[in-house]
Amino acid sequence: MADKPLDIFFYEIIFSSEDEIESHREVLKQLSRWGLRTNPENKKCKKFEEISDFYESLDSKRNGLYYDIDGIVIKLDDRKLRKKLGTRDRSPRWAFAWKFEPKKEITTLREIIVQVGRTGILTPVALLDPVEVGGVTVSRATLHNEDDVKNKDVRPGDKVRVIRAGDVIPEVAERVEKHKGKRQTPFKMPEKCPVCNTGVAREGAYVVCPAGLSCKAQLKGSLSHFASRDGMNIENLGDRIIEELVERGIIESIADLYHLEVNDFKKLEGFAEKSSQKLYEAIQNSKNPQLSVFLYSLGIRHVGRHIARVLAGKFNSPDEIADASYEELENIEEIGPEIAESIFNFFNNKDNLTMIDELKKSGVKIRKEESAGAKSLDGKTFVLTGELDEFTRSQAEEKIESLGGRTTSSVSDNTDYLVRGKDPGSKLDEARKRGVEILDENKFKKLISRL
Ligand SMILES: [Zn+2]
Repeated sequence: MADKPLDIFFYEIIFSSEDEIESHREVLKQLSRWGLRTNPENKKCKKFEEISDFYESLDSKRNGLYYDIDGIVIKLDDRKLRKKLGTRDRSPRWAFAWKFEPKKEITTLREIIVQVGRTGILTPVALLDPVEVGGVTVSRATLHNEDDVKNKDVRPGDKVRVIRAGDVIPEVAERVEKHKGKRQTPFKMPEKCPVCNTGVAREGAYVVCPAGLSCKAQLKGSLSHFASRDGMNIENLGDRIIEELVERGIIESIADLYHLEVNDFKKLEGFAEKSSQKLYEAIQNSKNPQLSVFLYSLGIRHVGRHIARVLAGKFNSPDEIADASYEELENIEEIGPEIAESIFNFFNNKDNLTMIDELKKSGVKIRKEESAGAKSLDGKTFVLTGELDEFTRSQAEEKIESLGGRTTSSVSDNTDYLVRGKDPGSKLDEARKRGVEILDENKFKKLISRL
């Protein structure tokens, strides 16, 4: 990334302690005066027709822009009226997106293959004649699941429409023309995993390979997740290397990573003494993870970084989690039935416990969470209103986040605390109505200094 100059447009001032700026026009001017670049593609409109004209003219020239856009945002210019309208859930009532049609092109479907993901789910993927969709060459597109293929009835040789919306994986939207000549039989999910040949199982809408980490596809996916930046953060252990390590049988489990010697890496394509030594050290240096990092790395379904931190705030080790009942897990704030079930099942699966055990035997020592225990704001949600004496808005937010809490812009039933400063807004009434605990600046300072 270092060689790619980053570029930014500024669109909004979210909060200012100065006199309120009255209109969005003025906000854009102010941003420019500060030397912050704003997007020239904007227009003040008085009627709906003007908006739709602007939408259409931008849509027609969007391929000529040097950056990707997926629509326009319509905003209320008058900032006082914005306050009156307020915010619903996460989105303000005074702004909404009007998306363009996703980019789409027609190409020929060559073959439907089945991919096996990290969690064992089988996904049909269409291999296509390469086609450029909005500046990106697409040669494979997802077909989601068996029903999706059935409904669209796409088969090899058919002409299909491929769409790509924003950063989403390209998908086959529909068939536009049947293959001329004899069509192949309709697609069916295989009865056996295409990677490890184990009989598949059905879980609701999904077809799953039940072999776990003895399935090479799942092992590769799990290793990739384990080593990722948010996980154990093992630098240079990319997918290509994982592929080679697994395919050549050099490693057969996640714990095997820690048994690799410098010489093992030298056998890999493109590896010399120095690069082998570096990767060996990166793996060895990852042996002392914080509990939440370790939990995330395991790739438990529904357990992202946040839930991993919530768990690490309640338990001191994987063993304690394994001992917890389903009810105990479900009683934890922010953990609903689906997540609780997934965690419970993971820690009651023999293979998973063996994997954790092997990792420990291989020298992985899990550290207790740094901000763990009763002191942490982990999982707490804050809303700020009005002006504080000792903190700017962003300083207060930073403080909360550094202690594991979160800030959101509007009061909901999930809000734990409202922090009120001088001249609070309508959020204060909303917090009272919902019985949210209200902290003035002193109480807020006490709360965070206790920690
Ligand atoms: Zn398999």
